[in-house]
Amino acid sequence: MVNLADGQDLAAAKAIADCYKNELGFVRRATLEKAISQGRMIVARKREDRSILGFVHFCCTRQGHVSIYEIAVHPNWRGRGLGRILVDAVTNEARKEKIEALRLKCPVDLPANGFYARLGFVRTMVEDGKHRALAVWEKRLPLLKEHGRPCFFVSLTSEAPKIRRVVRLWDASGDPRDPFRHMVFTPLFSTNAAAKLICRLKEERDGVVMFDSGGYHVQMGKTSYEELFDRLLRFYRENDWADWYVLPDHVPRSADSDQEVEFKVRETIGFARLFVRMMPGKFVEKAIGVIHGRTEEQIHRCISEYTRMGIGYVAFGSFGTSGPGGSVNMVSQKSLGLLGMAQGVAHEYGLRLHVFGIGSPNYLTRLAEANIVPDSFDSAGWWKGGGFGYVFTSTRSLRVCYTRRINSTLSRVANCLAADGHSCQFCRELFWLRDSRLHRVMHNLVVTMECVEKLQREG
Ligand SMILES: [Zn+2]
Repeated sequence: MVNLADGQDLAAAKAIADCYKNELGFVRRATLEKAISQGRMIVARKREDRSILGFVHFCCTRQGHVSIYEIAVHPNWRGRGLGRILVDAVTNEARKEKIEALRLKCPVDLPANGFYARLGFVRTMVEDGKHRALAVWEKRLPLLKEHGRPCFFVSLTSEAPKIRRVVRLWDASGDPRDPFRHMVFTPLFSTNAAAKLICRLKEERDGVVMFDSGGYHVQMGKTSYEELFDRLLRFYRENDWADWYVLPDHVPRSADSDQEVEFKVRETIGFARLFVRMMPGKFVEKAIGVIHGRTEEQIHRCISEYTRMGIGYVAFGSFGTSGPGGSVNMVSQKSLGLLGMAQGVAHEYGLRLHVFGIGSPNYLTRLAEANIVPDSFDSAGWWKGGGFGYVFTSTRSLRVCYTRRINSTLSRVANCLAADGHSCQFCRELFWLRDSRLHRVMHNLVVTMECVEKLQREG
């Protein structure tokens, strides 16, 4: 077991450090004592008698990274993976503090350098030490770049020319915010050209990209789960440029019996484990496990199993919004309850929570009223809703085309937007919202950004 050191661990930690005078130099007792008192030492213990087998001394620096000063495992316990477990524990601490990098220095002539390389550290430079040259190792922890929850991932699963047009329109509007810094994309159900474009946007805008597995398409009967698994494995292996990878999941349907749901939950967990094993070692740090289930026990089981696999990010997908504009009535009290519980369990385990498919901003507000503010969510509702004739305001989504009462709806939209204090390039003339799909889409995106910002301020 791994936890923070306390005063009783001091002598044992010092004794272990003293076994490695060549590697660590002389480690002062007072230094370790201070680290323990400030909660900057994590130890690996034997469960039976709590004696310590290894320790790591670290610190969150002002430069915004976590430095590992000393890490050591008792000579009798080397080669059993404890070093990796200790580094993982520090990684978790860093993630909790939203810190984006681990850093450490190691004399260039030590075998430990190979250990850091295997854990995914990259050697960034070599500097002069007091007695010998030191390799500087760094490990990036891909994080959400905005502070404050929730972080909005804009869903861009469409054709390349359409995506390009939306991005250009946004940039031309002069809005200083950038919705395309966090993008979610479903590669298996998009063209190669769209994937290339997303990759380029990521580079140009220093963005964060999440690949969605497309489990939704299995639910819709467009492909089989097995096929999804194989194709995803191939695509993820060939495309290591994304920041986050949603694992394949077997999405239960509303009409499924309890047995069928249980079967799919087991399959989702079992195949996630298999998938992670079939990918390169570091993949698990970028994996997002999908939570499914109808009962609290199933939700809890998903999260604890993902934690055991080393996954640090989970996503809730057990209610999809369906229908144009993302109809709010899909959020039943029951699914809200399960999501609230998932949020509690995920945070208890130190994991981050993503919510799939938020239809419209008012849905987000409804979640916030139920004390659910995910770490991140994605939405295609602004785009899809606009296509179906819906216009977003902060509190509702109103249909302004394909309906008989166009003009009275338009004036309601105007009132709501005035109450929101909203104005944007795309609704400067109200009739644009009625006549132009693209104006609706872009306006909806602005409103979504505004609602997210409001929640971030309040959060
Ligand atoms: Zn507008």
